Amino acid sequence: MGLRQSGVTQHRERHLMGNALSDLLATRDWLLADGATGTNLFNMGLSSGDAPELWNADAPEKIRALYSGAVDAGSDLFLTNTFGANASRLKLHDAQDRVHELNRLGAELGREVADGAGRKVIVAGSVGPTGEIMAPMGALTHELAVEMFHEQAEGLKAGGADVLWVETISAPEEYKAAAEAATLAGMPWCGTMSFDTAGRTMMGLTSAAMAQMVGKMKSPPLAFGANCGVGASDLLRTVLGFVEAGPTAPIIAKGNAGIPKYVDGHIHYDGTPDLMAEYAVLARDCGARIIGGCCGTMPDHLRAMRAALDSRAPGPRPTLDAIETALGGFSSAADGTEGDGAAPPPRRGRAGGRRRREG
Ligand SMILES: [Zn+2]
Repeated sequence: MGLRQSGVTQHRERHLMGNALSDLLATRDWLLADGATGTNLFNMGLSSGDAPELWNADAPEKIRALYSGAVDAGSDLFLTNTFGANASRLKLHDAQDRVHELNRLGAELGREVADGAGRKVIVAGSVGPTGEIMAPMGALTHELAVEMFHEQAEGLKAGGADVLWVETISAPEEYKAAAEAATLAGMPWCGTMSFDTAGRTMMGLTSAAMAQMVGKMKSPPLAFGANCGVGASDLLRTVLGFVEAGPTAPIIAKGNAGIPKYVDGHIHYDGTPDLMAEYAVLARDCGARIIGGCCGTMPDHLRAMRAALDSRAPGPRPTLDAIETALGGFSSAADGTEGDGAAPPPRRGRAGGRRRREG
């Protein structure tokens, strides 16, 4: 081997010494993650219905620009453009035989941008849901889901991703299948679920139930949390639900930049950079350690979030009322974490909102 090692070789050596994300978390109180992938790519000309992952091969300069947008805005970690790069979703575009290639390319482009950043930046290999309903409710078996996620994980690993980043999951079964795939690939992983249905995932999981599930896993994630969902307020209520369950793993908060609205034929998110800065500071006060945005979050939002996290001192854990005052109302009165779960949640409105324990 010559004096210059390839990025992949360097990456393997880093792997032997420890995990890049754990190492960074050990030296920092919080990390800024990235923002939207879809919203940014639509602004670059992606049409709805197109598979964004094909751009890893066909328009790599746009994917570099996507990643650089987050890094230049101050993100310590960004997700690869591989959210839908599993066999089930790529089949819709007749690209099911390109899983390894598209994931590898997505991670390689990420490695390039991260290694050129001049500071430590983590490449997180995005793994989204299969888009199928898993057994016993649906037809997708555990074995097949693990196989699909494993295939994707191997591509991301080959491209040099530091960590697998499972996101926008609704079903506990799918979360567990992705975890098993990460273990098969020998990769550390993080995993977030989307709490978009009155504070629960589409499959009915509460924040408290997710934290309990994560606590019992044989191959637990390095960090876990919530992404997407409804708005910034709901996301933070979910984070408070995690915190109350007393988890040991760091918590991830990746909320949308406000609420989606259909304007002039496209989806617009109404959250301003100032609102997302407020959200970022509150997310840290709630107890999240990896803080980013999801849909609608652009580099301007990230810059404002970074500036706020850098300049403002941590505060006490906010109450639900404080979150509502700062970021707007919740999408539902309750999120399923009230009481012991046996009885239907008590109705509560703005005035009668239950205040969460401090500390
Ligand atoms: Zn989103």
